[in-house]
Amino acid sequence: MLNPFLKEWDTPFNTPPFDEIKTEHYVPATIEALELARKEINNITENPDLPTFENTIATLENAGQILSRITSVLFNINSAETNKSIQDIAQEISPLLARFSNDITLNPKLFERISKIFENKDNTDLTSEQKILVERKYRNFMLGGAGLEEHERARFREISEELARLSLKFEENVLNETNSWVLHLTDEADLAGLPEGIVEAAASEAVKRNKEGWIFTLHFPSYIPFMQYSERRNLREKMLKAYSSRAFRGNNFDNSDNIRKIIALRLEVARMLGFRNYADMTLGDRMADSPEKVQKFLEDLYKASDHAAHRDFKNLKTFAAEHGNNDEIQRWDWSFYSEKLKKELYDIDDEILKPYFPLEKVEEAIFHLANRLYGLTFIKNDTIPVYHPEVRTFECYGRDNIFLAIFYTDYHPREGKNGGAWMTSYRDQKKENGKNVRPFISIVANFTGATRTRPSLLTFNELTTFLHEFGHSLHGILTNCTYESLSGTSVARDFVELPSQFMENFAYEKEWLDTWAKHYLTGEKIPDEIIKKLKESSTFNEGYSCFRQLGFGFLDMAWHTLTDLPDQDISAFELKAMSKTELFPAIPGLNMSAQFTHIFGGGYAAGYYGYKWAEVLDADAFELFKEQGIFNPVIAESFRKNILEKGGSEKPQELFRKFRGRDPEIEAFLKRSGLI
Ligand SMILES: [Zn+2]
Repeated sequence: MLNPFLKEWDTPFNTPPFDEIKTEHYVPATIEALELARKEINNITENPDLPTFENTIATLENAGQILSRITSVLFNINSAETNKSIQDIAQEISPLLARFSNDITLNPKLFERISKIFENKDNTDLTSEQKILVERKYRNFMLGGAGLEEHERARFREISEELARLSLKFEENVLNETNSWVLHLTDEADLAGLPEGIVEAAASEAVKRNKEGWIFTLHFPSYIPFMQYSERRNLREKMLKAYSSRAFRGNNFDNSDNIRKIIALRLEVARMLGFRNYADMTLGDRMADSPEKVQKFLEDLYKASDHAAHRDFKNLKTFAAEHGNNDEIQRWDWSFYSEKLKKELYDIDDEILKPYFPLEKVEEAIFHLANRLYGLTFIKNDTIPVYHPEVRTFECYGRDNIFLAIFYTDYHPREGKNGGAWMTSYRDQKKENGKNVRPFISIVANFTGATRTRPSLLTFNELTTFLHEFGHSLHGILTNCTYESLSGTSVARDFVELPSQFMENFAYEKEWLDTWAKHYLTGEKIPDEIIKKLKESSTFNEGYSCFRQLGFGFLDMAWHTLTDLPDQDISAFELKAMSKTELFPAIPGLNMSAQFTHIFGGGYAAGYYGYKWAEVLDADAFELFKEQGIFNPVIAESFRKNILEKGGSEKPQELFRKFRGRDPEIEAFLKRSGLI
């Protein structure tokens, strides 16, 4: 049978034929697709005509299409439904891809053509999107080593291939460490404080593993409620230590060496390319376009939240002491007492809220919200192939029934799934030969599953996570660009969280909750009282959480502004970088860096600050909705036209300005977080 990657996809909407794809297809298909892509590149460089946007940039943009369909399937599967053979294939293929990408950026003939177009970009009649594409390609080539001397090129290649391998290894280690540890309880007394649903889920987990009693894991739906509710302090300590020492236990999955290597290689690359450090190199096309700007942003927020963070910490300490904790308050006490204090102050907690958020209703409500704002309709389609029976698929249409996208959902934890939640795509939007090629968008999450007796009920945090990933999805679904590498979420790292965080705001709005949130058993509408408390409690511990996020931001910047390798070990380095936002006593053996997949695995290196940065943007954007009505069609249309449709086809500053009528201001964010 023909390799499914190498033939036309005759599936509905030409979606990936997951039911035909077997592990043995990836490598041979990749090798053939690489060959094909090389020929396409060769056609560009051997073209006797003078370089033009069309014969060089646009042609390059469209090269390697088969390759990208393979890699998007492979890397998405490696995150959402992996196993040893998929991991091995990813390890085998990623250096091939790195080599290919180097062959492109280090191709002198190709670079010469691109440079010519770049130099003349203002003298030709390029559209503004085309100009941005030229700038982006030129920058990618420069960062890809195109300007290097011949003798440096071999080393450059070696480094990028090694970095690709190390990042994969880093993530693999974290996943292995998340899966390999469980807390197995057999004494009912050890379940003290845990809500019924959590206990039931732990019992099912035990049954699944042929064990007696209850099994708690380091996956979020198990770990988080355990930390919030378990009255067994020693067990909370055990859980937290297991969680926070992942990939830092000195075993085969320890990431310490990987961090050292990644940091050293990133620095070496940055130096070769003439930058002071890695952050300097990466930040060039961001809204905050230098390490100094990022540092100043983090420092300003640090000052703004300093008082509130210490206040939150002190309140919790006092509260814990009043409730029998005579010991120094520790990390493993934070969620437990927070949940209790929140309950006391606002009479609200996850267990009160969850019955109003059954996953099925949440999904329906979110689709409906997209309908109200942007006229979208989601129609379930069971004939689209999926990679796991839990995955569901929808056709998404806009007003006037215009087809916009295919939307995949994959909600619950599995052994082969990375932690957290994310939006991704199997095909990106572009216009080709007069045709608007629409995207295939997916969200993957680790939401609390159903148990024997109850459906999947989301925590409030899971509700906001859903809205968040759905916001990214809207960015992908509504995009309307010409070039694939500028469409959808292909925007500056510190702009990409605007559409996602923007959507989270709705979770606090009575006007929205009122339209759908009902108790899953009684059908009773969510009481106004609960919504009121939800809103009041939204600034609860915001000072402390801001500090935590800032701590990660400082850590990320500390690693990536290094100009020499640190002589301290990883723990000492981390401790120093995070010291000013750290309110708890340090615990030896715990380490954030070793599991910081955002910056050592995914693409957030020197970019973690972007979450906070985008919070300033999203609070400011949502403020306008609050002034004009959260479903205001005119404002929604403007958000769609100026932000969601545009992808990276214009500079983010300009897009924001077009929507807001001015530059972003920080006040709305400070107010929303209760920092002023
Ligand atoms: Zn996000």
